[in-house]
Amino acid sequence: MENSKRRTIGTLVGFHIYDGSHPDPYASPVIRGMQSAARDKNVNIMVACGVGRGVGPSRHMPAWPELNEETDFVPIGPWNTDGLIFLVPLITKPRIEYAQRLADNGFPVIFVGSGVGHPAIIVDNEGGIRQVIEHLVQHHHRDIAFIAGDELDPGDSTARVNAFRRNVKEFGLSDDPRLLEYGMHWDVGGYRAMQRLLQSGVKFTAVMCSNDQSAFGAMKALREAGKRIPWDVAVTGFDDIQESQAHVPPLTSVHASLFETGYRALMLLLKRIEQGPAVLPEFTCVSTHLTPRQSCGCLPEMVALASVSTGSSVPNADGSPQHFKEELAHAMQNTLEAENSRIHDSELTLLCGRLADNFLLSLEGGDISHFQNTLIEILQHVEMTSDDSTYIWQSVVSVLRLGAYAFLKSNPNPLFAEHAENLLHLARVLISESAQGWYTRLQVNQTNRDEIMGLLTARLISNSEEGQVYTTLREDLPQLGVRTCNVAFFDPRGEDPAAMSLLHSTETDAPILRFETRRFPPPGLYPAEEPFNLALLPLFFQSEKLGYVAFDGGNLDPLATLVRQLSSSIKNARLHAEVLELSLTDGLTSVHNRRYFEIMLQKETERSNRYNRDLAVIMIDIDHFKQYNDTFGHPAGDEALRAVANCIIQGARRGLDMVTRYGGEEFTILLPETDVDGARIVAETIREGVQSDRNLLQPTTVSLGITAMCGKGVQPQALVDQADRALYQAKAQGRNRTIIFTDWMRESAHTNSPSG
Ligand code: GH3
Ligand code: MG
Ligand code: MG
Repeated sequence: MENSKRRTIGTLVGFHIYDGSHPDPYASPVIRGMQSAARDKNVNIMVACGVGRGVGPSRHMPAWPELNEETDFVPIGPWNTDGLIFLVPLITKPRIEYAQRLADNGFPVIFVGSGVGHPAIIVDNEGGIRQVIEHLVQHHHRDIAFIAGDELDPGDSTARVNAFRRNVKEFGLSDDPRLLEYGMHWDVGGYRAMQRLLQSGVKFTAVMCSNDQSAFGAMKALREAGKRIPWDVAVTGFDDIQESQAHVPPLTSVHASLFETGYRALMLLLKRIEQGPAVLPEFTCVSTHLTPRQSCGCLPEMVALASVSTGSSVPNADGSPQHFKEELAHAMQNTLEAENSRIHDSELTLLCGRLADNFLLSLEGGDISHFQNTLIEILQHVEMTSDDSTYIWQSVVSVLRLGAYAFLKSNPNPLFAEHAENLLHLARVLISESAQGWYTRLQVNQTNRDEIMGLLTARLISNSEEGQVYTTLREDLPQLGVRTCNVAFFDPRGEDPAAMSLLHSTETDAPILRFETRRFPPPGLYPAEEPFNLALLPLFFQSEKLGYVAFDGGNLDPLATLVRQLSSSIKNARLHAEVLELSLTDGLTSVHNRRYFEIMLQKETERSNRYNRDLAVIMIDIDHFKQYNDTFGHPAGDEALRAVANCIIQGARRGLDMVTRYGGEEFTILLPETDVDGARIVAETIREGVQSDRNLLQPTTVSLGITAMCGKGVQPQALVDQADRALYQAKAQGRNRTIIFTDWMRESAHTNSPSG
């Protein structure tokens, strides 16, 4: 399928997904889900990834298809996509209205999250909050505080706080109004909300937070106030982002698969695009379940048992052995799924089936090797083929423990009990050993990536030429898992500062591409054979909006750091070029100086020799200029030099031609891709121009010498000598003329130079 025919989905996020260097922990799994669905469906996807400026609770610089103060512009919009996914909250009114307008006009959109419009895919906020309250009540809490999100956010924030209020009433819990605080769904907000709760003096033994990040902040405030979690105050979150497991103590949270949410959002949008607006319900719900960890007061073993109970009933060994085995395998699979195993269902069924078979075989027979070998094989397989931490297989031990109880109840035999104990111990040891290896590997990989990023940063900083910046990127990015990177600068047209794009590809030496920004990507930029998966980040320097960078979207982790580094390197290189330009410019006439001429002469003769290209040099000297100075004075002489320089610039108008003041009243022109005839035309135009220039106080003339080469192995200095000899001839023959170098001049003496 060709890229032009393949559908393209755009994802717009209402907030910036990079605050510091890492992508937002909520947005990134949702995006990964979308990217995964796009791959499965063979469609292109572009994700707009806003980058914060590092100030305040700054969820206010999203990458967006409109140009304004509150956003960075990136070209993902209705003009270059078949449909758009909006990840809410969109936060500001103009953004909400923009999205609603598109939906009203019949453009295919879907909202991830509630409160803006429909069709929308939303997590079951009501169910999640209810499960938390039920669970906290089981832990005997009656005074439960709630740290809500944003009071003004009509979406998840409001849904969660309303669900809390309803359930408080239903369970007859304390409804002291001081128990509700707003934490804005970010850690500092949660921290401050908890401080307010503590200061208010209201009694509470548990606090529910409307998302995980605000719970992290609340936990920090509790620790600082000397409160122990969970003994003094139990804490729960919502979303179950990855970090919640890594906290001390691990955070109890409501799990809704964010990955699945993203995956389904893209699938639903495609259906909408293909079958029209009528096919989607207003709301599609993603189910939630409680994942109890220590922060709510659950002990480790209970935690594991709770995750068993979320999935299925406890196995029963009274029926047929085959049925028992199946139940056991099924329970294991459920608990792994609850732990977010990324292994595909059918494969998980197979693995759990084998483990259940061999567990019972070893349990009855006493030979532990069946179970041991199978478990080792499975753990190795998981380590090699998936992103899963093998740690989550600890939950399987809890299932096996329950299974062993059930088995022993139906088959009371002390020998079996001893076997069971051995097997469970073995399983715990093997899994923790494997998990240890997994974490070590993770750490080693992270260290390697940091190392590469450090080196790349150092190399970028040391690049003083813009071209080198792109070369560095091309060479180093693949090691960070970033396959493609295209850097585009805005090029204004009329009123629109972002109308056109000038794109530097780091994949090829291709020249700069110029195209209408809203038609990104230009044809041929990405291979047509496979769908593209892009992350578009704004390129900015301080308050200046320079353009955008289109990365391959496979690994979002390093991208914000890269664009920040990139923009300052490019800015530096441009500044450097400017300074260099100044040092290579003649102060009086503003044409280049002799140093510049020598650098360029070297470069151009090399190029001419290597590629067999034409190259011409014209040397120009003002006739009797000493006399001009004597007559009108030195300052008037300076004016005359400027006037002649202008005549030369007028004569050598091609972009490639390089005019320099060689010294005194002598000028040179370097003319790449020009032969003798071409140079003569330029020279004559200049000669006539000077002769008739009204800015000069008396009629003045110039003499010109020309030489040209075409890959004849001529050295730079020899080329200058040749032009000089031709110029000498022009002077000798009476001035105000152009002479072309010929071989006989080589022998002629260069004495008695009339030009001095
Ligand atoms: P010819 O036709 O043989 O080239 O005669 P000429 O008088 O131009 O040659 P000569 O080399 O004898 O004198 C060059 C003069 O250019 C000498 C100097 O006063 C003048 N000149 C060189 N640099 C500057 C400058 O920066 N400003 C001014 N006003 N005059 C300059
Ligand atoms: Mg002169
Ligand atoms: Mg001279």
